[in-house]
Amino acid sequence: MPRVRIVGVSKRYGRVTALDQVNLEVENREYLSILGPSGCGKTTLIKCIAGIIPPDEGQIYIDDKGLAGVPIQERGIGYVFQEIALFPHMPVAENVSYGPRVRGWPPARTARVTNEMLSMVGLEERGQAYPRELSGGAQQEVAVIRALASGSSLLLLDEPLGSLDAKVRAKLRYELRQLVADLGLTAIHVTHDQEEALSISDRVVVMKAGGIVEVGSPMELYLRPKRIFTANFVGEANFIEAKIAQGGPDCILDIDGLELRCRNPLSLASGRVVVAIRPEFISFRESGPSGVNAWTGRVENQTFTGSAARYQVKVSNGLTLTVKCPLLSDEPEVAVGDNVTLSLPVEHIRIYPFPEGGLEQETALE
Ligand code: ADP
Ligand code: MG
Repeated sequence: MPRVRIVGVSKRYGRVTALDQVNLEVENREYLSILGPSGCGKTTLIKCIAGIIPPDEGQIYIDDKGLAGVPIQERGIGYVFQEIALFPHMPVAENVSYGPRVRGWPPARTARVTNEMLSMVGLEERGQAYPRELSGGAQQEVAVIRALASGSSLLLLDEPLGSLDAKVRAKLRYELRQLVADLGLTAIHVTHDQEEALSISDRVVVMKAGGIVEVGSPMELYLRPKRIFTANFVGEANFIEAKIAQGGPDCILDIDGLELRCRNPLSLASGRVVVAIRPEFISFRESGPSGVNAWTGRVENQTFTGSAARYQVKVSNGLTLTVKCPLLSDEPEVAVGDNVTLSLPVEHIRIYPFPEGGLEQETALE
């Protein structure tokens, strides 16, 4: 059963470093997503794993066997691209049975596997249809089972849902996850969609500019991102520059005259830091005096996003914070122009050392 090990892999195209010393281990039966902005090297990495692109440096092992010298079709890897790449002139069943037929499987076995695969995605009645007669989502399901029909146990997916409508995308996420679990596969799924990565994966790898920024479970990355880049790219966050006024396990920060208490897991003792707090963790409270983690301000702007309302609140030191509140009744809690008090809960505030190249460079997508 496939376990993938990527050791010191680099790949350059002229002056562009597409991958820079990437190290990663993927467990057997794990569903791993690779998440990052466009151009960060996701496709290059997955093509290196597939053996389609040879790395300039480093090694890739599948079940402790090196890939070098093993022909692509003998690696036991199923590969699905973003663009739906079915053979348009072949009925669906022939698309699915293509791999087994090329490998010379006996017709009875080929037919049995093809039927099994089609019924796994509920398309057993559509084997004789042509790809264009199926919806985009069903076509992409066929692309997935075609990649698996020859018995691959490692499934590589490069933005497999990228060309589909939002509703279909969300539905296929769960089907894909289920299929991978039912067949006991290992899956590596490339996406630039953070919600897709969080909802489908056991672990998520966050990439930026050819390198791995952070690896963690969806909850870890969302609730306790170790890097500023992750806090920004996975979900959204208010970033605030601050100074440590008083160190310790619960430290006090000074933000242009406002005080903030937060946990200090890195034991930062002094100096400049960046604070990150997600908009949905800030809430409005009964107005009262300004104090530690209770800041007064005025609502400058409100937008409605369906399930929530977003506010821009200018607090007393001139800083503007984004606050997101679920709509729990048919009236928004506050309105533009209201004077409010914001509650900033200690447990949801993260602090980071101030990045050497500045905050803007740290959160940049390239
Ligand atoms: P992603 O899939 O994350 O969008 P890619 O792996 O496709 O990123 O590309 C990573 C970087 O390598 C980009 O800067 C891209 O322009 C460059 N690149 C990818 N393929 C080639 C190629 N064949 N020739 C030159 N540059 C390439
Ligand atoms: Mg890509």
